[in-house]
Amino acid sequence: MRLADIFNDPSEQRFSIEIFPPKTDAGEELLMDALVRLKDFGPGFVSCTYGAGGSTRDKTLQWCEKIQNVLQQTATAHFTCVGSSREELLEWLNQATARGVHNIMALRGDPPAGETVFKAAEGGLAYANELVSLIREHYPEAGIGVAGYPEKHLEAPSMEEDLDNLKRKVDAGADVLVTQMFYNNEYYFRFREACANRDIKLPLIPGIMPITNFARIQRITSMCGTEIPDSLASRLEAVKGDEEAQFEIGVEFAIKQCRELLDAGVPGIHFYVLNKSQACERILEELNFQTAQ
Ligand SMILES: Cc1cc2nc3c(=O)[nH]c(=O)nc-3n(C[C@H](O)[C@H](O)[C@H](O)COP(=O)(O)OP(=O)(O)OC[C@H]3O[C@@H](n4cnc5c(N)ncnc54)[C@H](O)[C@@H]3O)c2cc1C
Repeated sequence: MRLADIFNDPSEQRFSIEIFPPKTDAGEELLMDALVRLKDFGPGFVSCTYGAGGSTRDKTLQWCEKIQNVLQQTATAHFTCVGSSREELLEWLNQATARGVHNIMALRGDPPAGETVFKAAEGGLAYANELVSLIREHYPEAGIGVAGYPEKHLEAPSMEEDLDNLKRKVDAGADVLVTQMFYNNEYYFRFREACANRDIKLPLIPGIMPITNFARIQRITSMCGTEIPDSLASRLEAVKGDEEAQFEIGVEFAIKQCRELLDAGVPGIHFYVLNKSQACERILEELNFQTAQ
């Protein structure tokens, strides 16, 4: 199924899952187990990230094949412009299509560690909107997702400019948008309004990363500029040495956050599950996703 078709019924709110390719055999087994458990809840799609610097080029496709062929779920392969010329990008897209992967999350990618400015590879692409155009030109039937930033992309000089640039990706042919993680729904609601004002009409799927380990989430949010509300941070700070308590606080917060988003009519929720299922299972049960599918 293509991404656009998954979200074409406005009366149905779907959820999706994002994983990354594990580095070890043990990690692969744990991930498969997590995906089997989450399958019961009926995800609209499962996406697999493309490692920074293109480091998981083939593994991303291998996992997408497992998602589709073993788990019988719709897969979406993340794909970035990092380190590849136009020809190399097309070669990877050819492979993806030949291997039955027809949904692509089209991203620019981050500059390498220690650098703040992204430099296109020789003969490569500089922005995600160029990648969307390339995919649409050569694979007009592909499902294309793009990233959006309710708290602004870190490199963008202003929210206005970031939204102008987002419009380029949409106009180039994106089908759905998945947001960067956020913990304050107000950012999403403002972002949704700003998109509507710019005639950006594609489904805006909020990205939610349940907090199960505060230190890890602090590391991740510090890299992408996501704010953790003070009230939540202080509750988590108070149980710093206690992972179980952090898990409970994080899950309870995510349930409330998702419920508010669903009540506000979002088309679905994209869960960054960090290859684990426990938190997401609890949240989906509370949100009645099992019975809804
Ligand atoms: C849902 C999601 C999934 C992700 N998955 C991955 C992954 O699998 N692998 C990975 O390495 N990274 C991933 N990332 C991170 C992503 O690669 C970074 O956030 C990256 O810095 C920007 O990617 P982008 O596609 O949003 O870039 P772009 O949309 O190209 O934007 C990058 C910056 O350039 C500006 N800009 C955009 N277009 C133009 C233009 N035409 N002219 C001038 N300025 C412009 C924007 O305002 C922004 O500041 C993901 C992010 C999200 C939200």
